[in-house]
Amino acid sequence: MALTLVSCAGQKMGLVSSPAEYPAKQGSLKELVYTPAESQFSVWSPGAKSVTLRIYATAEAEEPIKSLKMRRQEDGSWTATVKGDQKGRFYTFQVQQPLSRWQLHETPGIFATAVSVNGKRAAILDLRDTDPEGWQQDRRPAFRGAQDAIVYEMHHRDYSIHPSSGVQHRGKFLALTEHGTRSPEGLKTGIDHLVELGVTHVQILPSYDYASVDESHPEKAQYNWGYDPQNYNVPEGSYATDATDPACRIREMKQMIQALHKAGIRVIMDVVYNHTFDVENSAFTQTCPDYFYRLTADGHLGNASGCGNETASEREMMHRYIVESVRYWTEEYHLDGFRFDLMGIHDQATMMDVRRMLDSIDPSLLLYGEGWAAGSPLLDYDKLAMKALIKNMPGVGAFCDDMRDALRGPFSDDHQAAFLDGQPGHEESIKFGLVGCIAHPEVNMSKVNYSREPWTVQPTQSINYVSCHDDMMLTDRLRASVKLQDGELERLDKLAQTAVLTSQGIPFLWVGEEVMRDKKGVHNSYNSPDSINQIDWSLKAKNEDLFRYYQGLIALRKAHPAFHLGDAELVRKHMHFLEAPQSVVAYVLTDHAGGDAWQDIVVVLNSNREAVTINLPDGKFTAVCADGQFTDDAKKTYEKKATIAPQTALILHD
Ligand code: CA
Repeated sequence: MALTLVSCAGQKMGLVSSPAEYPAKQGSLKELVYTPAESQFSVWSPGAKSVTLRIYATAEAEEPIKSLKMRRQEDGSWTATVKGDQKGRFYTFQVQQPLSRWQLHETPGIFATAVSVNGKRAAILDLRDTDPEGWQQDRRPAFRGAQDAIVYEMHHRDYSIHPSSGVQHRGKFLALTEHGTRSPEGLKTGIDHLVELGVTHVQILPSYDYASVDESHPEKAQYNWGYDPQNYNVPEGSYATDATDPACRIREMKQMIQALHKAGIRVIMDVVYNHTFDVENSAFTQTCPDYFYRLTADGHLGNASGCGNETASEREMMHRYIVESVRYWTEEYHLDGFRFDLMGIHDQATMMDVRRMLDSIDPSLLLYGEGWAAGSPLLDYDKLAMKALIKNMPGVGAFCDDMRDALRGPFSDDHQAAFLDGQPGHEESIKFGLVGCIAHPEVNMSKVNYSREPWTVQPTQSINYVSCHDDMMLTDRLRASVKLQDGELERLDKLAQTAVLTSQGIPFLWVGEEVMRDKKGVHNSYNSPDSINQIDWSLKAKNEDLFRYYQGLIALRKAHPAFHLGDAELVRKHMHFLEAPQSVVAYVLTDHAGGDAWQDIVVVLNSNREAVTINLPDGKFTAVCADGQFTDDAKKTYEKKATIAPQTALILHD
């Protein structure tokens, strides 16, 4: 769209149009093209009167060595070329737009790919210099597709900051590159623990540059989950061994991904494009005020994130920004999937363009998010990437709160229990989660807690879990909501994860559940100290039986395609529910489902405090999991009936 002369309240504004009508930038959104011969800079700012590029010799230098007026282009971007090798220098942009309501100052721009400490200035480097040895040979581990995923969500600091991790680079990206680390009791920790557990993917909490941890004081114990984005296309400095060296954080994050890939584990990053840490100082506002955020008619910021702002993915440049940023992480860092925070704030068209872009690179890359918002987004509901609309979005998944809350009780009340407490009335919600939230004739939707109709088309669109970072640990939740007797905590923990790991959705675990970690009852530990969030790896020896059970569930799932059919028609054909007493869910996977070696598989989840007996389908069955243990006792067989011990799962095959 051509720029027009407009005026506001009789005041001449110059060459501007309203942000909603700005022309889109032509070509790539990259702001720096570096070669040893020259560096080309570009910043998109259609409303600006002028833009100044400043080049600094160092991150801290007070005065720039160069200050250049950038040249305006037709598409509203401003460009400048600096001759000679600028490697090792830093740059900022300064936009002048006198009528902006925001204080405009120097910014590293929206697409900085390297920054100084605390992300204040962008750094000029050759990204090839940040590649670790062997990076060109790095390959994604073999993986058929979403149906085979078992996701383990983790925070770098939770995972390795405690001395018992035995890790040298505690709390850093490099922690996951160290093999041979052991707990004081000699059990595997670090990357070896992940391999031993058997998960296919780790989902790292936000690892792009976020604002809340002061990177210039690594000696201070500082903690944050990182849902406060600052520079979207740069790794967080506090996870690097030297945040003052712009190349270090990039290289070390790549080393982490390379090590995980070598160990057979894919890497998903949690991304938070739905809001920024603040508005005035964000690179969005500093380059193009009032364009990237949703505003009410009277100019107030939307707040569907609950963090004071929400971005406007329906605007062309924000839409393209999200797609290009995800592409950048996929190509430059070899990431294997993305978890979108508060995905319900974004529009479906943006999420589908991200999906198409990922498919063009590798269709096995995962894409899912939270199908909700923390407030009402300023966009028509029908356009939003909400859970109930996931069926419009093939290849995009969402978290299943239906089964989560049916198992352990609602998000809104930590003290309210559900199925795990033996309470009746939650069976249909659990069945709904077990089929992956598809339409299934044997699930009575009128009795499902949150969904009146199926919300997935394929079962792999449902991310199935009982706990994640932003809630109580399962152990804390059980302690808070169930009057626990001896041994019940462990029994119920195993029962809950049996539902998750035998479901047709994508199973998802939160770090440390497998060693029975707790967070001392803290629900929202986003900035709690290490004493709350760290994992004491001595727990692994104390709770080795629980760990072996999780390991057994994962091994069972991986060995048996019947548990992850990946296709709604196959689930409807092969998965059937058995008649069961109250507070029991039982199903059978029939007829070598998915080419399984076993003909029929029976799974019974009994949350009663008493043993129950159910009728089995025809055949002679052997237990693979009974009384809270994985077993290979072929002599113990079941015909016609099976009795299931209190608060346990029974898994049989014929
Ligand atoms: Ca940071």
